[in-house]
Order: sequence, then structure tokens, then C-alpha cells
Amino acid sequence: MPSTLSSSFRHAPSPLVALESPTLQRAGVRLLVKRDELLSMGPGRALCGNKWRKLQYNLQAARDEGQETLLTFGGAYSNHIAAVAAAGAEFGFQAIGIIRGERPEGLNPTLRFAESCGMQLQFISRQAYREKENPEFLSRLRKQSGPFYLLPEGGTNALAIHGCRHIVEEVERQAEALPGYWCCSLGTGGTFAGIVDALNGRAKAIGFSALKGVFHEEEVRLLLKRSLGSSSLSPLAEAPPKRGAWSINTDFHFGGYAKFEPHLIDFINGFHRQHGIALDPIYTGKLFYGLFQLIEERHFPKGSTILAVHTGGLQGIEGFNERFGKLIEVK
Ligand SMILES: *Cc1c(COP(=O)(O)O)cnc(C)c1O
Repeated sequence: MPSTLSSSFRHAPSPLVALESPTLQRAGVRLLVKRDELLSMGPGRALCGNKWRKLQYNLQAARDEGQETLLTFGGAYSNHIAAVAAAGAEFGFQAIGIIRGERPEGLNPTLRFAESCGMQLQFISRQAYREKENPEFLSRLRKQSGPFYLLPEGGTNALAIHGCRHIVEEVERQAEALPGYWCCSLGTGGTFAGIVDALNGRAKAIGFSALKGVFHEEEVRLLLKRSLGSSSLSPLAEAPPKRGAWSINTDFHFGGYAKFEPHLIDFINGFHRQHGIALDPIYTGKLFYGLFQLIEERHFPKGSTILAVHTGGLQGIEGFNERFGKLIEVK
């Protein structure tokens, strides 16, 4: 495992900004946004946000191992697929994306972008896709494609979690004091696990699930344990962090992954007009919608400072609008 990043895989800290709004004033809270969507490393705007943070140490590991090819898995609109494609182009790796489902006649904007970065797309049936962690399936892939550095679907592994710890480390240098509440969107939970790990019980973390029902706190617990177990990088390896100070909110998934309702779209468009910050409809839109609702319900004590992580995902807006009819005004 690489212990430090070479300069190619480093970046300047993303901006930390304070939002102003009557809702925040009435509730007497401060809201800071860690704008990881503005980290833009490669072509397009796909290699940003948490997908970049999750890739940093993996790209370093791939290079250290002398690997020339990155291989990963994802759905047709996946932010992770787009990010790996951009990383391949930016850092000189071949990239293979195994995509769930039939090849459509016309590629959507995410897959068009991935191909334009030189990613080789292989479409497999949903049934075959379920084998993606099966060692036999992977060894067949290796026979077909030659050696590769494997990135799991969604990009979450111990190195990815380690990369997400930097979100906390950067904010600690940028903010006057450690914010009391840390909010982020949750898919596989890898980003959240990195934040919880780095906070080590010093502040409360709230994960807002973008998925319906399937997300269990147990999965985050497993990720935390695995990240400690396999990461010699973690300074916490000998003293497991306090785990009590985090929770998962499942009230704002809007029916499930990539599902939405008109008031979510209105919120996203209104948020952009008011704050000049674009949100995606899959993850960050739901996070901020839920967070503002909790703030309005006075969930946070007066005087609290809340930090929300903008994890990116804006590459998905084009495909979303193409599918559902230009709902989101922002680009
Ligand atoms: C992938 C993604 C997430 C989910 O991250 P996990 O680490 O899988 O929980 C959140 N926000 C955005 C914008 C994403 O692309």
C-alpha cells in the first residue's frame, strides 16, 4: 500500500464556503460546504468529488505495481465509470469499464464521455454482472483482457476510504474550529466511512442514504473495520475510533436510487439560483434537500456549525436531463 501520494495524485484543497440563507438564520446555525465538486482533475468534469478522492491512492497503487490497465464495474450512468475513464486518460492507464446491461443503440452522455476518454466498454447481462466479485469470473476476465488493477463497483475499498479521510484533514486546516456536524451523501458508504474514521468521535457524522432500504449501518461498520484491518496507513489502526458518533438518515432517498419527485427538482433549481451551487439529482440534491429539512425542523441546536460535503456527481445531469426532459436548469 502506498503511504504517500506522488505529486501527480495530489491537489490543492477544495474550497470551503459558508452559505447564507434566511432558513439558516432563523435556525441559528452555520452551514459550511466542502466543495469537492470543484476538484477537477482530468478531461470533462467527471474526475472530481468523492470519486477522485476514492481513486487517488488506488491510482498511486496501480502505478506502484506497474499496472497499465484499470478495470472496473458500473451502471450506465455511473459517476464512478466516468471518473475511472477520465483517470485513465489523465494518467496514462488503459481503462476497461464493465457495464451492467445490454449495449444501447445510442450511448448516453456518461458512456459517450467514457468512450471519448478511451475507455473500452464491455456490456454484460445483469445476471453475469452479479458475478463481479466472484474470483473465477475475475480470473476469466484476466485471461481475456490481460492483467489489470481492479477497482470495485462504486470505487470503495480500503484505499478509497483512506483517501476520503483527507476531506476531514483539509477542513481542519480551513475552518476556525472543527464543525460539530458532518453530513454527506451515502451510496456504498465508503466516503462516509472515511469521514467517520478521520473524525474519530470528535464530531457527529450523518450519512444521507441515496438508496432505499438496502443500506444498513452494519455495512458502514464493516467498512470501518475493514479499512482499519487492511490499512497500515491509518494512524488509528491501534486504537479503534469511537463509533457512536455517527448515524444514517434514510428519510430522503425519494423512492430509491435515481428516483425523484418534482419537489426535489424544484429544490435543486432553486438552490442553484440562490447559492450558485449546482447539485446532482442522485446524491447531493437529496443530501441538501434532507439537510435543509432537518434544519427547518430544528434538528440542530442553535449555534451549531454543520458541514456538508459536496461530493460532485454533476456529470450525471446531462444524462438525467436527456432521460427525463431537461428538468434540471443548471449545467
Ligand atoms: C458515488 C457518489 C456518492 C456515494 O459515495 P459512496 O462512497 O459510495 O457512499 C455520493 N455522492 C456522489 C456525487 C457520488 O458520485
